[in-house]
Amino acid sequence: NAIIRVKGISKVYQMGEVRVEALKEVSFEINQGEFIVVLGPSGSGKSTMMNLIGGMDTVSSGEVYYKGQPLHQATEKVLTEYRRHAVGFVFQFYNLMPNLTAYENVQMAVQIAKDPLNVKEVLAQVGLADRADHFPAQLSGGQQQRVAVARAIAKNPDLLLCDEPTGALDFATGVQMLKLLKEFSVQYKKTVMIITHNAGIAEMADRVFYMKDGRLENITVHPHPVPPE
Ligand code: ADP
Ligand code: ADP
Repeated sequence: NAIIRVKGISKVYQMGEVRVEALKEVSFEINQGEFIVVLGPSGSGKSTMMNLIGGMDTVSSGEVYYKGQPLHQATEKVLTEYRRHAVGFVFQFYNLMPNLTAYENVQMAVQIAKDPLNVKEVLAQVGLADRADHFPAQLSGGQQQRVAVARAIAKNPDLLLCDEPTGALDFATGVQMLKLLKEFSVQYKKTVMIITHNAGIAEMADRVFYMKDGRLENITVHPHPVPPE
């Protein structure tokens, strides 16, 4: 039932004489519908791991499978398809198109999707029904990140990967954002993985991954994760 299976993956970055082992022999499985939070100090390999799962980078050694399909041996063409259809990404900086409205930003993303959700419904779900015609500059940071979340969700991906989605938001706005992601995961039975410094979200997670020095040091399991209020 694993949607993602990772077996002994390592990642080495070599820049001239400098060699960084960003990820060291990491293994785990993620099941469909799981809500995973990744915690760990800066530089511990969290982003590297997520980029490898998301098909944005390739492993130095080890294996990554999406629904049994080996990504570590995939061609760039296959990885592009994978990123387009299977994965939604949310980053710290919203990367919205400034000359497009909220609606158009989301609409653009769903054009390449196979089975997209309704753009208006998704905007309503993230609390932006009345902001659809606004441009990014007319929206607050939290609202812009909601557009970015809507854009990722509307593609209807199996897997939503979020790298510090609350990094540029104040604490309360960040908590709202994380609740939204949790609701999405529960409602659509989607797999969500979030890198965050906000340890408060950990209790909503099915499992918490603790990264340290490129290793997956510990996994905490929550049999009864706390639902969002
Ligand atoms: P985290 O997300 O936990 O902050 P990262 O995965 O970004 O950690 O980084 C892990 C290690 O790999 C760090 O030492 C970082 O400097 C290094 N690293 C990450 N990306 C690159 C890259 N593109 N080139 C060189 N080194 C990198
Ligand atoms: P919660 O409050 O939901 O239990 P916490 O963030 O406090 O979430 O951490 C969950 C558990 O994991 C706690 O028992 C904590 O002691 C433990 N923990 C926290 N950081 C680490 C770590 N780096 N390695 C191993 N275990 C950790």
